[in-house]
Amino acid sequence: MVFSILAKEGYARTENIEEADVIMANTCSIRDNAEQRIWGRIDYFNTFRKKRSGLIVGILGCMAERLKDALLDTGKVDVVAGPDAYRHLPDLLQAVYDGAKGINVELSREETYGDISPVRIDKNGVSAFISIMRGCNNVCSYCVVPYTRGAERSRDWHTIVREACECVEAGYKEVTLLGQNVDSYLFEDVDFAKLLALVAGVSPTLRVRFSTSHPKDISDAVIDTMAAWPNICHHIHLPVQSGNDRILEKMRRRYTREWYLERVARIRQAMPDCGITTDAIVGFCSETEEEFRDTLSIFEEVGYDAAFMFNYSERPGTLASRNYPDDIPLEVKTRRLNELIELQNRLSLKSNKRDVGREFEVLVEGPSKKGDAQLCGRTGSNKMCVWNDTTHKAGDFVRVRVVDCTSATLLCELKK
Ligand code: SAH
Ligand code: SF4
Repeated sequence: MVFSILAKEGYARTENIEEADVIMANTCSIRDNAEQRIWGRIDYFNTFRKKRSGLIVGILGCMAERLKDALLDTGKVDVVAGPDAYRHLPDLLQAVYDGAKGINVELSREETYGDISPVRIDKNGVSAFISIMRGCNNVCSYCVVPYTRGAERSRDWHTIVREACECVEAGYKEVTLLGQNVDSYLFEDVDFAKLLALVAGVSPTLRVRFSTSHPKDISDAVIDTMAAWPNICHHIHLPVQSGNDRILEKMRRRYTREWYLERVARIRQAMPDCGITTDAIVGFCSETEEEFRDTLSIFEEVGYDAAFMFNYSERPGTLASRNYPDDIPLEVKTRRLNELIELQNRLSLKSNKRDVGREFEVLVEGPSKKGDAQLCGRTGSNKMCVWNDTTHKAGDFVRVRVVDCTSATLLCELKK
């Protein structure tokens, strides 16, 4: 999208950082280590200043929003643009050419960039992401997103369907609808269930995925729409965060363990083959060992196919940082995290072993890490498959049979 906005002003994109006149980094603030990595990148970008006078370094997105002037004050950054300011980038660059600094961190209640067709820079041309909403109206106490991304806005569904059509015309075989809380999508009378059906209706061979679902909001209508449309992938990313009710309450997630498990049961009843994955945070403020055990037990009970797991990272300005001390020592967090990761590895392996002997339709993404004679691609449930194949290419749909597995991959053979 940023490319699309700048291309209109005559800027061209380069893959070679040494020939760039402007370097922009899109940033994330979700955990402290994400920001630390960006600081490293900023130093790296600045090494090019010696060779290229007039080089402009821009920081876009959440870190720009959170740190604002502090980024400019380092002297290492010339342009700071928050997530709702991308239309102003040409003016911000002009300000720098005129000898000033370019900063815009205003958040908007309306901006969805709905009318802008993004320039797709993904390499394989098979799978595209479509943003359907921006911001978030939940105030999970640990989370910086509502502060950096602003209030929730749903994008006009007409422009979403149009973008999906453009993806099909450009040869894409899969789209993933993106939002912080897709289940609260609403534009005119189109809710998320209706939007899913509209996008699935674009082409029967277009695979449709989405992320992220909030357990408090995922509706029966969404689950039933997924079950009804053969081209909507049976995979739900349903971040649980914790298995303990006191911690969930303190995190302000606004569901209980019981509610969460009921949603999982409802999904499995409608789609027994549905992949379910999750996010979890360990070592949230005041989490006891016993409360952490509840996270382990909900992982066992659900039997997730995969999970992203994190140590709690205090984010300045959030409710948790203002109200609760970050009182779990790093060694304890890390020990809990390792225990959870170990459990999830076992659960992933168990889930993959269940698929041995089964057949799946897989969308080819390209050569596997082992090279051209072996291809890789995902099942509808989002499991990575690899198989020997010299006849297909990225974008083909093939049928494979699972012959073996690891905790991360299904090892398959091609069905003729
Ligand atoms: N909107 C999504 C998640 C967005 S952030 C949802 O509500 O589920 C992605 C993940 O980062 C979260 O699910 C959470 O597990 C993790 N995360 C967010 N803030 C964090 C923090 N302060 N410390 C550690 N992990 C965090
Ligand atoms: Fe953050 Fe909660 Fe919004 Fe997800 S739903 S982005 S965790 S505030």
